[in-house]
Amino acid sequence: MSRRVFVVGAGIAGLAAAVEAQRRGARVVLHEAAPHAGGRCRSFFDPKLGVTLDNGNHLLLSGNQSTMAYLRAIGATDTLIGPTQPEYPFFDAASGDAWTIRMSPGRLPRWIFDADARVPGTLPADYLPFLPLFWAKPGRTIEESVRRKDRVWSLLVRPLLRAMLNADPSEASAELAAGLLRETVAQGGQACRPLVARSGLSHAFVEPALRLLQYGGADIRLGSRVAGIGVSGTDSKERVSSLAFEGAAEPVALGAGDGVVLAVPPHAARALVPDLSAPDSSRAIVTVHFAVDAPNGFQPMTCVVNGMSDWIFAADGRLSVTLVSADRWLATPHEELAQAVWLETAKAMRMPAVPTPPSQVVAEEHATFAALPAQEGLRAATRTRWPNFTLAGDWTATGLPATIEGAIRSGQKAADALLNPSMER
Ligand SMILES: Cc1cc2nc3c(=O)[nH]c(=O)nc-3n(C[C@H](O)[C@H](O)[C@H](O)COP(=O)(O)OP(=O)(O)OC[C@H]3O[C@@H](n4cnc5c(N)ncnc54)[C@H](O)[C@@H]3O)c2cc1C
Repeated sequence: MSRRVFVVGAGIAGLAAAVEAQRRGARVVLHEAAPHAGGRCRSFFDPKLGVTLDNGNHLLLSGNQSTMAYLRAIGATDTLIGPTQPEYPFFDAASGDAWTIRMSPGRLPRWIFDADARVPGTLPADYLPFLPLFWAKPGRTIEESVRRKDRVWSLLVRPLLRAMLNADPSEASAELAAGLLRETVAQGGQACRPLVARSGLSHAFVEPALRLLQYGGADIRLGSRVAGIGVSGTDSKERVSSLAFEGAAEPVALGAGDGVVLAVPPHAARALVPDLSAPDSSRAIVTVHFAVDAPNGFQPMTCVVNGMSDWIFAADGRLSVTLVSADRWLATPHEELAQAVWLETAKAMRMPAVPTPPSQVVAEEHATFAALPAQEGLRAATRTRWPNFTLAGDWTATGLPATIEGAIRSGQKAADALLNPSMER
């Protein structure tokens, strides 16, 4: 009989682990504490606006290779959409200026030599001081690693890295920014085409995976919270031997060949594995959804600088605005926040400032682990001291900030490490 792999947590990391384990012939048992799968990357029906919303706008890049492999595996490659070219419209909320960054294909950044493709009012030489960011050393913040703080910094590098790391560059890890930049910008425009889920996050990342798992015979248990991990054996023979569940009288015993992928957020992982090293600080993201049509010809996504918002995403009948590193907005009443965000959004979209369209605010207090140098050192490896127990999640040591790409990569690696013990540690 094939080995059982218990995957704990049906966020994107857990789903990727489950899909990979099933692909390798394991019998998957997936336990998720919430009544739904998807974790921090999911859609839900919002009775206030009467539509299905995402918990937050998620931006992917065409160079996110693990994500693309995952979408291929679950048969969902057609669920992402984006412009055919790597183009990024910008709006400066302070000056009212708007421009578009048009990256060129190929690794040579020809676009910085084209005045219509780079930040207005800058010269090609202004981009050179940012090269060291691609090889940034551990332990330093982005700001510490950048010598020049001119227009390229304030209108391009700072806002993009702030949005991608969900932390202000004054505190964010330069090493993590470097990891991200090497996989995207350094690969050229073809790796940087922005992509979003066409019909919502669950439609793209969650439902096709659950269908595939179910079709392959996986046992999917929603509303099933793992409350404890039992260990038996001594020294090198020690292994995880049981899982206890909230509300269940008896723990479930693991067979000799069975394994566990723990794919829960860092605070939950620490509660289950007491001496585990894991990030202990997080940053919020707030999304304000407005039930209103974008004006004709408006791009699907705009980066806002010098304002309170960071991104505006346009979908059918909806504008959704992202506020990153948004802890300071958590206490603001939602109506007040929506009104202030709408004033800025209306300016960017050249739409009437009043009335504020019907809105819904989604505040994810622990959206990502804090991408700070000190937190980077706390991220755990895939393997643990128990050979049948591996870790997954965006917070594990992926070399990337908390992203879908990192989460998927961690899940695939955790399943691989369980089912292929010879894989290098
Ligand atoms: C608003 C927002 C915007 C974002 N924007 C982007 C973006 O633009 N691009 C990008 O790439 N990434 C973005 N991210 C980050 C991305 O969503 C996360 O990195 C990713 O979803 C993390 O997946 P995960 O599986 O590691 O963790 P989670 O999604 O947290 O999944 C963990 C799962 O474990 C479950 N669980 C917890 N405890 C237990 C237990 N004891 N037993 C069983 N189950 C348990 C939880 O309920 C959860 O479903 C964003 C995140 C948010 C919140």
